[in-house]
Amino acid sequence: MRKKIVAGNWKMNMDYNEGLSLFSEVINMVKDEVTGSQQAVVCSPFIHLHSLAQMAKGYHKVVIGAQNAHQAESGAYTGETSAKMIHSVGAEYVILGHSERRQYFGETNELLARKTDTALKHGLKPIFCIGETLTERESDQHFDIIKTQLTEGVFHLSEAHFEHIVLAYEPVWAIGTGKTATSQQAQEIHAFIRIEIAAKYGQEIAANTTILYGGSCTPKNAPELFAQPDIDGGLIGGASLKSRDFVDIVKVFN
Ligand code: PEP
Repeated sequence: MRKKIVAGNWKMNMDYNEGLSLFSEVINMVKDEVTGSQQAVVCSPFIHLHSLAQMAKGYHKVVIGAQNAHQAESGAYTGETSAKMIHSVGAEYVILGHSERRQYFGETNELLARKTDTALKHGLKPIFCIGETLTERESDQHFDIIKTQLTEGVFHLSEAHFEHIVLAYEPVWAIGTGKTATSQQAQEIHAFIRIEIAAKYGQEIAANTTILYGGSCTPKNAPELFAQPDIDGGLIGGASLKSRDFVDIVKVFN
């Protein structure tokens, strides 16, 4: 059975103390309220990672992730953070290919393939984001875009490596806009993604791959989205900054 995951993406929010208090609220609520086998992943800025990983020790339902990692092992890349460093502080996941990184930092599928390789080499599980822009959807290119992002970003991986990938379908037009994809629109793409994985790696790996939906997900719309057969949880931006909302989304799987 594939894992159900709700991952929070704090983006560039929360100073150090704010982040610690938000996380301690999340841990306390998850501990008391979450009963299923789902996992919550909190992807914080780098400055919080070590402290959050320490706080999460012993709570198997909550793990930590970063929001980016460099493609190189180490070296003269002033201001960057390597996958090995991130893993060394206790993070398990790293978001790669978020549309904000693609848009504002020019991250291409080719670069993301290299980041994925380096992250996996150092024991991090990538939450690999894919998704079309509004123009691409309106010109009926969304399936082609998704297929290209998969082919160029992750389909070079061996089966053994691909099994550590979590995919997140995030239509760019739904991120931070309050405009959610309908559950039918999301399910249609998630089913397509699973078919593409099956064509590349076979049915068993496709059935075991966790595919998250992201884009203005809230406690209100999550139940219908997560009830779709190919939606295995969510990548949550805005709503992950409020402990009550985030935990209510995690609890959808209770
Ligand atoms: C995201 O940034 O991954 C995201 C889904 O953001 P939001 O939930 O705010 O749309």
